[in-house]
Amino acid sequence: MNLIQQNLDKIRAEIIKTSQKVNRNPEDVKLVAVSKRFPVNVIEEAAKAGQLVFGENYIQEANEKFNRLDKSTPAVKLHFIGHIQSNKAKIAASISHMIETVDRLKLARALNKHLSDLNKDLDILVQVNIGDDKNKSGVKVEKTAELLAEIKNHKLHHLQVRGLMTIPPFTPEPEEARKYFRALRQHAMELAKKELFANNEKIELSMGMSKDYHIAIEEGATLVRIGTALFGDRPS
Ligand SMILES: *Cc1c(COP(=O)(O)O)cnc(C)c1O
Repeated sequence: MNLIQQNLDKIRAEIIKTSQKVNRNPEDVKLVAVSKRFPVNVIEEAAKAGQLVFGENYIQEANEKFNRLDKSTPAVKLHFIGHIQSNKAKIAASISHMIETVDRLKLARALNKHLSDLNKDLDILVQVNIGDDKNKSGVKVEKTAELLAEIKNHKLHHLQVRGLMTIPPFTPEPEEARKYFRALRQHAMELAKKELFANNEKIELSMGMSKDYHIAIEEGATLVRIGTALFGDRPS
């Protein structure tokens, strides 16, 4: 059995074990395999092992790689998890199955316009800078409601806001990230009370990476974005 298959099996088992530990349904936690900087064959291999959702950070790279996938590869879905410049909104809108990093109205408007041309609806997450970390993108906590309301009020019909995404500030101990994950969930619950999501009964929370996904699942993650634990160290 190859290494990607082994790592996938291990991570899937961990997701199940951790979900059950906190009485969550493991099916409510989806794995986003972060393939940034890895070559196409890594995506093909993971897809053949049944992993069909991939996270990429760079539009150009994602576009090139997804276009080069071998024809025998099962259909894969792209979650875009990197910063998007508004001038890249068009390709992002056309190639993504979900964009997890919408953090400003200008980008939301640009995406909606291109989606309208494409006659396509798109699930998005709003990226929140939960730790108010100056090195991280994302909307400030106190501005999230405003951004969500603006998306709703500008009637950007082609965008379905499914929930929130965050990258917490770096902490040496994974356990220290728990407070940020908990804060994101609480924030989402408050926004749901104001009915600012497309479906306020079912909210996606994208949080947790290789080192801290167990903790994120315990705190309510529905999407965990895992690269290194699945594919090994990224090529530079
Ligand atoms: C690279 C990246 C990941 C994956 O990180 P690992 O530590 O390799 O699991 C997750 N989310 C985002 C936004 C990333 O840029």
